[in-house]
Amino acid sequence: MRPATNGNESETRRQLRRIYTTLLAAFGPQGWWPARIRLEVILGAILTQNTAWKNAALAVRRLRQAGMLNHEKLSSASLSKLESLIRPAGFFRQKARTIRNFLRYLETSHGGSLRAMFSTPGEKVRRELLALKGLGPETADAILLYAGGKTFFVADAYSRRVLARHDLWKPTATYSEAQQVLHEHLPGSHALFNEFHALLVEAGKRYCKREVPRCEACPLEPFLNHRHVARPDHKGFAFAKPPAVSGVSGRVGPTLKRMELSHHLG
Ligand code: SF4
Repeated sequence: MRPATNGNESETRRQLRRIYTTLLAAFGPQGWWPARIRLEVILGAILTQNTAWKNAALAVRRLRQAGMLNHEKLSSASLSKLESLIRPAGFFRQKARTIRNFLRYLETSHGGSLRAMFSTPGEKVRRELLALKGLGPETADAILLYAGGKTFFVADAYSRRVLARHDLWKPTATYSEAQQVLHEHLPGSHALFNEFHALLVEAGKRYCKREVPRCEACPLEPFLNHRHVARPDHKGFAFAKPPAVSGVSGRVGPTLKRMELSHHLG
């Protein structure tokens, strides 16, 4: 499928670099994923589906306190015990079954070894994960990127919204269309994908709200091709007269020199 991008390759890459370096300067490294072991990342990725991270984190903490952050113990626990432990994450029955599905897959396809699973080519593992009930592309890619160090960008709703508003793709772009643009224009570095995704989520949470974005306070405001103006009915954007696109020097300055990952985007 052809990506829904609006610019040529070099301009797209430049735009991504500007956005990345500006967000990193503004917010600093995000330190994702907040987990101690890979199984914890995977459980967190499942538990955070359709809920705020704080709820998922509470469920993970309960699993840890119960000594369940272990493949064998999780697999042998009763479904009702698992449901009870992860209850704070919401949709706990469905999520308990998804965790079970994943553990069964890990056992049958990779002998219960995450090391074996992540030694398998990423595309193959992704296809296998997507075949499991309860795992969509966002969760599968979060597992692959954050637990496996595989280069799959998590093109979630935050990433798609922020970058669509900066004309990287159309607002109607699908998950796979957005991911394809990112994969084509970013260097294949899992560290970069990790940090960039986390920064886009932060921008989405702080400023790029779904209904009414707070562009006037957002560090990405200088890169808007059109000034976004929220309509009074809050149903979407209207576009006022396009302003000149300004540079980033006044906002980020020497901080850019300290950016750990900027060189990836050269
Ligand atoms: S809030 Fe405005 S400036 Fe910030 S990312 Fe969203 S559209 Fe861009």
